[in-house]
Amino acid sequence: MFKTKGIHHISAIVGNPQENFDFYSGILGLRLVKKTVNFEDPGAYHLYFGNDKGSPGTIMTFFPWVKGFRGRVGTGQVGATSFAIPQGSMPFWEKRLHANQVLFNKRVRFGETYLSFDDPHGLQLELVEREEGARSEWPFNGGSPETAIKGFAGAVLLSSSPGHTMGLLRSGLGFEAAGKEGNYVRYRSEGELGNIIDVDVSERERGRMGTGTVHHIAFRAQDSAEQIEARAFIINKGYTVTPVKNRKYFQAIYFKEHGDILFEIATDPPGFLIDEELDHLGESLMLPDEYEDKREEIEASLIEIRMRETE
Ligand code: ZN
Repeated sequence: MFKTKGIHHISAIVGNPQENFDFYSGILGLRLVKKTVNFEDPGAYHLYFGNDKGSPGTIMTFFPWVKGFRGRVGTGQVGATSFAIPQGSMPFWEKRLHANQVLFNKRVRFGETYLSFDDPHGLQLELVEREEGARSEWPFNGGSPETAIKGFAGAVLLSSSPGHTMGLLRSGLGFEAAGKEGNYVRYRSEGELGNIIDVDVSERERGRMGTGTVHHIAFRAQDSAEQIEARAFIINKGYTVTPVKNRKYFQAIYFKEHGDILFEIATDPPGFLIDEELDHLGESLMLPDEYEDKREEIEASLIEIRMRETE
């Protein structure tokens, strides 16, 4: 049976790419580890943020739709995306969010305190202190390993059929049930980051895709062999799964789970060092080989992103 270590990446739709960079890099202190284009639509960016090394379990990716309409967070989507911060760093983050006029509130779930806030385009985010997970050594914009986001803590799923979604987490992806509290049912995987999925079982409106919403959530497979096994296993459970797609930095398969959330299974290798040195990750626009001869045209159609520090 397939047992994922946890979340590989989460991909969301947002607005202006400079605003996206300034928030995730400038305020949240994540590293832009890859600047590329949407492989299905090379006229638009695909931006990858993560820890200092761009490790699986730390990667938040964005499709900026400059003129996109606002989506609605609801069932059939990931609700909040949670990031893990080091123990004792919550006061630092409260101060930092406050200094940047980011409104937040504090919520307790399963005995853990979450700082909950939205990004500039309405995406729901959370910070929670976690002991597990390697510290990130990315020094950009005043970050330090004592406070820097380590990667994902987990995510909240808003399923249109929570029973089906929870069944798949357990018997399809190898998560273990880890308790129930109010409207939430918690699942845990073996990894150190991105290892907690909370399914929100409350009734709510259906989500609508657009800016400020998550497009899909990807779970980790350790290699292609494990991914191929997982694919057969999930097909056998009655899901329609895409063939393996080469995403250059990982191999991907996609399927709609029965609660209408788009799931992906992505391989850990080869990772983000396949086409850039560690010291220069994210600095250049990286294109898949088939678009290399259209580079000038593609670059002209993209808004330039200034990799600036913010106050
Ligand atoms: Zn993906």
